[in-house]
Amino acid sequence: MHSSTVTLAAIKAGHKSALVSGASFAGLATAYWLNRLGHSVTIVETASELRRGGTPVDIEGETIEILGRMGLADAVRTKALPPRGFEFKDADDATLGSIGIGNEQEAHERYEIHRDDLLDILSAAVKDEVEILFGQSIVELDEGRDGVSVSLSNGDRRDYALVFGCDGNRSNTRKLVFGEGEQFAYFMGGYFFLKVVPHIGLLPANMSQVYSVPGRMAMLNGYEDRTDIGFGFRTIGEIDYNYRNRAQQRRLIHDQFDGLGWKVPAMLDSVDGDDDFYFDRINQIRMPCWSHGRVTLVGDAGYCVSPLAGFGGSMAIIGAGRLADALERYPDDHGAAFRHYENELRPFVEEVQERAATNGLAMMFPADETELAERDRKLLAGEMDM
Ligand SMILES: Cc1cc2nc3c(=O)[nH]c(=O)nc-3n(C[C@H](O)[C@H](O)[C@H](O)COP(=O)(O)OP(=O)(O)OC[C@H]3O[C@@H](n4cnc5c(N)ncnc54)[C@H](O)[C@@H]3O)c2cc1C
Repeated sequence: MHSSTVTLAAIKAGHKSALVSGASFAGLATAYWLNRLGHSVTIVETASELRRGGTPVDIEGETIEILGRMGLADAVRTKALPPRGFEFKDADDATLGSIGIGNEQEAHERYEIHRDDLLDILSAAVKDEVEILFGQSIVELDEGRDGVSVSLSNGDRRDYALVFGCDGNRSNTRKLVFGEGEQFAYFMGGYFFLKVVPHIGLLPANMSQVYSVPGRMAMLNGYEDRTDIGFGFRTIGEIDYNYRNRAQQRRLIHDQFDGLGWKVPAMLDSVDGDDDFYFDRINQIRMPCWSHGRVTLVGDAGYCVSPLAGFGGSMAIIGAGRLADALERYPDDHGAAFRHYENELRPFVEEVQERAATNGLAMMFPADETELAERDRKLLAGEMDM
């Protein structure tokens, strides 16, 4: 038995309906704009609630401008984090070099906000305007001339005029529409673990510290009320692990970091607590085209820039904003809108990806003694740019 809230007949009659897969930055921002452009919007999110955790999101430039157009810039500014210092440490906790984030007298506005605070702000902006189905995923997509017929994991079959894949690095929509995701994944040679813990004391508030040995780095972000515990390690190729097996991922971290000095033993205590952490390979998504028919991808799903870029959250919001501009420009021609969206955004995405691929890894976790020495030289010379 299938139910359908929006039928093909309704789509033909001009009723614009949109399905968004994923309720994180790309999905919530896309849903916001689609609603504002007059679509009736459904979001499906595979998790049972918003997926929380993660390092803060950098807000500057076009992201601020788009949040302003969404009427959210003040709400985001209210939650801006204090400026943060960034120190590179050796095993004895001596500081090898430091830089500031957000405390330079910059010509333009720039700050950070906790990932969860930005999620809450975006979610509050759409939750009464769009339908959000948690614990649901797209199972099948059939595109016809007038719309897309979608099967959901709860057995519903619904018809939509447009579908937006905002479901992240391992996008389900990308897999269903463009084929197995691996062909688009550009592995950057490492893995990243991040856990947010509610206690403090490992380092001062409003400070980040990084300790690196060849191929491995341990990172702490300290705030007034919480601490981020981060680990990154390099590998020659991809390692064989189960993306859903949290115990196996904890073991991987122990294999890499047991026996290291600095604050690593205390940090490892937090790894064993529960399954609420982020662990993924460091990769980018590089696709020849982000759209197919009535389906397009936004954020990590279409063009993940990798955690090394420090720009994933902003890119998702910029992507949604640019997509909205394109849909507004071509309200009756989704093909033209999707082409315009990609043509306008792709050069910027490629620039950010290129920067992360060339500088990111060597700066955050140098592979060997030579790269480590070069990083330390840059630190001393003040050539390090964050
Ligand atoms: C819990 C979490 C922690 C993170 N921590 C960091 C971090 O510390 N540093 C960093 O650089 N980046 C981190 N990221 C990635 C960062 O959020 C993204 O790079 C950036 O925000 C781009 O946003 P996005 O909306 O495109 O993708 P994401 O934020 O990854 O969101 C994708 C959303 O789609 C949902 N989803 C996945 N599969 C399906 C499906 N089959 N059906 C429906 N929904 C689905 C996910 O549950 C998620 O809510 C994290 C992501 C998550 C989900």
